[in-house]
Amino acid sequence: MSTVFPIPTLQAGTAGLQLEGVPLADIAQAHGTPTYVYSRKALTDAFVAYRGALAGRRSLVCYAVKANSSLGVLSVFAQLGAGFDIVSGGELSRVLAAGGDAGKVVFSGVGKSRAEMRQALMADIRCFNVESAAEIDRLNEVAGELGKVAPIAFRVNPNVDPKTHPYISTGLKSNKFGVAFDAALDLYRRAAALPHLKVSGIACHIGSQLLDPAPIAEAAEKVLGLVDRLAAEGIVLDHIDLGGGLGIRYRDEEPPSVEQYLAPLLAIFAGRKEELCFEPGRSLVGNAGLLLTRVEYLKPGEEKNFAIVDAAMNDLARPALYDAYHEVVAVAPRAEAGRNYEIVGPICESGDFLAHDRELTVAEGDLVALLSAGAYGMAMSSNYNTRPRAAEVMVDGERALLIRRRETVESLYALETPLR
Ligand SMILES: *Cc1c(COP(=O)(O)O)cnc(C)c1O
Repeated sequence: MSTVFPIPTLQAGTAGLQLEGVPLADIAQAHGTPTYVYSRKALTDAFVAYRGALAGRRSLVCYAVKANSSLGVLSVFAQLGAGFDIVSGGELSRVLAAGGDAGKVVFSGVGKSRAEMRQALMADIRCFNVESAAEIDRLNEVAGELGKVAPIAFRVNPNVDPKTHPYISTGLKSNKFGVAFDAALDLYRRAAALPHLKVSGIACHIGSQLLDPAPIAEAAEKVLGLVDRLAAEGIVLDHIDLGGGLGIRYRDEEPPSVEQYLAPLLAIFAGRKEELCFEPGRSLVGNAGLLLTRVEYLKPGEEKNFAIVDAAMNDLARPALYDAYHEVVAVAPRAEAGRNYEIVGPICESGDFLAHDRELTVAEGDLVALLSAGAYGMAMSSNYNTRPRAAEVMVDGERALLIRRRETVESLYALETPLR
């Protein structure tokens, strides 16, 4: 029986699981655990799927940096000609350090500081996705001080229900993102009258882990209606940004393919000359990565058996934060019958679990992999319990490149001063 993993480039080899051509055991041997491991081929294929589906149409795919901001990952996309969706000045610095093109950067986020605006204006980014009325005044002022004109899009809130987890739904009236749909017309008029702004487009992002293409198509229809009303007033937009949000398979979800997801949108925008932009995060990196960890202890109990591994909620927060599911697989299979385990880390919190109730055949010292961990994994990691952050490795064919060294404990308190 061969299992189909959610990570397309992961397979069972003679030396246990391997990603592309590299056995995971070799990576653990060379770099220790816990380590995030990514597949360059899976990253590339995911990006190329978007580009292929959009072929023949003016379009830009801006990778949402917050999903995984490692320079190694960003550089793969930069080399493919990707744009980037950023939410901070720090992310802009990362994109540029990874060789990304500032001219393809869109800047989202509700709290852009003046310093971040200056940094982005000096870099000549593609567009500011403005999320409030107050932001246009500030941006106009900052651009004026620099003698620049800021290209803007309003992020509108189309108020459609994305049918996803409430924490990752962003397009409803009740949350902090975007400007109300009904207020947008007036905001565009105001922005168009400001001397240091150039109205360039419109943006929306309705949520994450979307498994149904219908809500985004509904949002697109609404957005298009607004674009036409603006055009009737002489405010002509050059691009329409439909955000990110396409879901992935973690367990048994059946997300639409990129083609299936984009097809209704391409139909809605057929014959339109605006550039179509997307901001995918999870669907580009989620199933290109896994977290490799080692079993420290097995602790059988009366009610539950615990497998205590060397990764924890500081490395992968999604299970503790969203009760998210990640598949857990043993790297080298064993013949004996399995047991059900709670997969937990060493952190002193009951919420420190990585997976509940999984059948596994493992012994102390065995390697296990948490799959689908490429998105919102390393990017959300912390140093809680003074745990150095994991190393990161990029597999490329037969090669495994260390793209981030494991943190040292000294570096964790290098900025601190004890009182004498
Ligand atoms: C988080 C986010 C994205 C990416 O979302 P995914 O679900 O990872 O594709 C895109 N755009 C904006 C504005 C976001 O906040």
